[in-house]
Amino acid sequence: MDLRLYDTLTKEKRPFVPLDPDNVRMYVCGPTVYDFAHIGNARPVIVFDVLFRLLRHLYGEKHVTYVRNITDVDDKINARAAQDFPDLPLNEAIRKVTEKTAAQFHADAAALGALPPTFEPRATDFVLPRADGKTDMVTLIKQLIASGHAYEAGGEVLFDTQSMPDYGALSGRKLDEQRPGARVAVDAHKKSPLDFVLWKQSSGDEPGWESPWGRGRPGWHIECSAMSEAYLGEVFDIHGGGLDLIFPHHENELAQSRCAHGTSVMANYWMHNGFLEVEGKKMSKSEGNFVTIRELLADWPGEVLRLNMLRTHYRSPIDWTVASLEESKKTLNSWYEIVGDNTNSAGEVDESVAALLSDDLNTAGAIARLHAIAASRVGTVGRLQLDVKEKLKASAMMLGLLGKTKKEYLESYPKAVAVNKELVNASIAARNAARARKDFKESDRIRDELTAMGVVIKDSKEGTTWEIAR
Ligand code: AMP
Ligand code: ZN
Repeated sequence: MDLRLYDTLTKEKRPFVPLDPDNVRMYVCGPTVYDFAHIGNARPVIVFDVLFRLLRHLYGEKHVTYVRNITDVDDKINARAAQDFPDLPLNEAIRKVTEKTAAQFHADAAALGALPPTFEPRATDFVLPRADGKTDMVTLIKQLIASGHAYEAGGEVLFDTQSMPDYGALSGRKLDEQRPGARVAVDAHKKSPLDFVLWKQSSGDEPGWESPWGRGRPGWHIECSAMSEAYLGEVFDIHGGGLDLIFPHHENELAQSRCAHGTSVMANYWMHNGFLEVEGKKMSKSEGNFVTIRELLADWPGEVLRLNMLRTHYRSPIDWTVASLEESKKTLNSWYEIVGDNTNSAGEVDESVAALLSDDLNTAGAIARLHAIAASRVGTVGRLQLDVKEKLKASAMMLGLLGKTKKEYLESYPKAVAVNKELVNASIAARNAARARKDFKESDRIRDELTAMGVVIKDSKEGTTWEIAR
C-alpha cells in the first residue's frame, strides 16, 4: 500500500518514504497546560492519532515512534497559577496547575479514542542538561551561539534570522518583506524584527533556571527542537500540528534545529490540520467562541465527537454544528447496531478503506466506504453477514472507531442523551398515581429508579417537572 502525504514545505502530495522503516518517527506539538482544551485543540489529537494508527498498520506496531510534548512552561501558566493558588509559592502553584491540566487533557484524549503517544515529554524536564544525556534546551542554545546563529542582547538570547539564508521557507515569508518598515516596530535590541527569543531573563517571581545567561526561562520554540531531537534524532519523518503553528512556531523550530546541526531539513514531511470553526471563525480561547471537550462529553459520547471530526478532510476547515453531531451520532448508532457485542476485531480491513486513508488521510472517503460496507449487509445471511460485521469493525478501527462493543458504547452515552423521554413521563405518571393512592413505598421506588437514570424530579403545586442531573 503506497502512503502519500501532503507536505506543507514543498506544497505537494508525495509518496511517503520513511528514513528507517523499522522506526518511523513522528512529532506533534502538544497542549500548553493551563486550562481545559477546547474541541479545536482536539483536532490535531484526533487527526494525528489516525495517522499513528495508519503508520502502525503499514509498518507494524513496534516500528512507529510518536512523540507529543506537553508545554508546561509558559507565561499563561504563570498567570493562571497566581490567580488560582494565590497563597502558594509560585513553583508549587504552577505544578498544581500543570499536573491537573495535563491529567484533564489525558482523560479527554482517551475519551476521544486517541492512543497514548509513545513518548510524552514535558518541557520543564528538558531545559537543563540531563543525566541521561538526551538533548536539552540550554545545550542547543549554546550550539546556536557557537555557530553564529544566535546572539545575546538586551538580557535575552535571540536567534539571528539573517544568519540563515532560507529562513521563512515553510511559511513563505521572505526576510526582505519583513525589513523594518512603517508597520513593524523593531525592538531596539534585535538585529532584525523577525529575530526571536531563545532565552529570556526571569524576575524573582517568575519561574527560572540558572543558565550561562543568568536566571531565566526558554522561549517557546526551542522546547520542541530539544524534545524532538531527544527522542527522534536530528532529522525525522513527520512533524505535525495545527495550521496556526506554521508561523512562527514551526518556522522557528525548523530554523533552530537545522542551524544547530547543520542539516538541510528537520523533518521530511510537515503536516498541518485546518481549523475547526464556528460560524466561519476559528475556534479559539481569545475569540471566546469555544466549547471545551469536557463540556461536549457531557452531551455526546467521545466517539461521536471523533467521527464528527473525521467526516471532514484534515486540511479543510470544519464547521462545528449540533446538526452535524446529530448526524454522526445516528451513523455510529447504526453501525453499532450491526457490529453488536462482537469483540472479534481481527476481521480483514477493507482494502479501499486502507487505500483511501493512505491517500493523505482521506477520512471522509473512508467513512463513505464504511457506509457502503454497512449497507452491503442487507440481504446477506449467515457466514456472509458475519464477514460484513467483522470487516466493518476492523476497517472502522483504522479510524479509531467501533473499538467498543455495542453495550460499552451505549454505556459511554452521557446520561443526558440516553434518557428516554416517553419512559420518564410514563414513570412520573405512575409515581403520581402511587402517591394519589398513598402508596409511598412504590412512589419512592419509582423516584429512585428515575434518579438512577440521571433524572431529577421536582414536585410543586403545578405538578411534577423533571430535568437531567448535571
Ligand atoms: P494551543 O494550545 O493553542 O497551542 O493549541 C494546541 C493545538 O491545537 C495546536 O496544534 C493548534 O494548532 C491546534 N488548534 C488550536 N485551535 C484550533 C482550531 N480552532 N482548529 C484546529 N486546530 C486548532
Ligand atoms: Zn512545537
